[in-house]
Amino acid sequence: MIGKHTEQNFQSLELKLTRPSDVAALLQTHGIRPNKVLGQNFLIDANILEILLSAAELTKDDVVLEIGPGLGVLTGPLLARAGRVIAIEKDAALFNLLRERFGGIASLELIHSDIMDVSLPELMARGVTKVVANLPYAVGTRILVDLFEQNPAPRRYVVTVQREVADRLAAKPSADDYGLLSLLAQFDHDVKVRKVISPSCFFPPPQIKSAIVVVHRLPHPRVEIADRKKFKTLIKHAFSQRRKQIATILRGFTNNSDVPLAAVGLDPRERPENIALETWAKLANLL
Ligand code: SAM
Repeated sequence: MIGKHTEQNFQSLELKLTRPSDVAALLQTHGIRPNKVLGQNFLIDANILEILLSAAELTKDDVVLEIGPGLGVLTGPLLARAGRVIAIEKDAALFNLLRERFGGIASLELIHSDIMDVSLPELMARGVTKVVANLPYAVGTRILVDLFEQNPAPRRYVVTVQREVADRLAAKPSADDYGLLSLLAQFDHDVKVRKVISPSCFFPPPQIKSAIVVVHRLPHPRVEIADRKKFKTLIKHAFSQRRKQIATILRGFTNNSDVPLAAVGLDPRERPENIALETWAKLANLL
């Protein structure tokens, strides 16, 4: 059984799933109607699939976490290129379909669960090196933020998210999208928006654009902070009132009107959206 699943076999599984008619037929024969709440928009574009796979730079040493494998369009080629794949699917009908398609493949661990109910430290302890997924919209941001906090953590993420989320993850100070998510991601990672994806690349097409982001874990955090928890509390507090001036924000945060902002090179009238990660770190260390 396992021997039958050669690279070529995986490729042919993948190619079929990039034909909308085959996807529609597969769903119909299994009586599955795509569920909007679960973000069931299945990838049907071979170019996008190839971009995801090549950006992941997989080798047989990789243990890949796939969140929401769906019909398995990505799972097949991931299995062909990585050493091991852990795929977590919430939908029971899709899970059963995946079990039929990939059952007996020793390098695949298929888990029927909501990713939000899975213990991430336990998952990471199994040696996950990369996350490759077309993430379900509803939980995409939350799961990324939770994964960024793990130690050990994945070295690389190649994920499709809502376009706005991709822009927020990668935004630099003063950009419209710059905020809490940018800081949480860029603290330990390099983030790049690799490609914006049109809705027509999915079946059924979603109402919004998506984008592929490539997130690469840095060997060391970008900045040194004494207390990571305090740093997070500070930026959360600040960005919950992003239009206010930093001096006013800090007064509410510390009950101390004398935070020496000049010591970190900050103008008291500056607003959170213009303050860089390095300055937030200095500020957190000072408080
Ligand atoms: N990977 C497939 C593809 O590229 O065609 C499907 C991607 S689709 C955008 C999102 C998938 O995530 C669906 O299969 C959906 O059932 C699954 N999903 C949604 N919420 C989930 C959750 N909380 N935990 C695990 N899987 C989830």
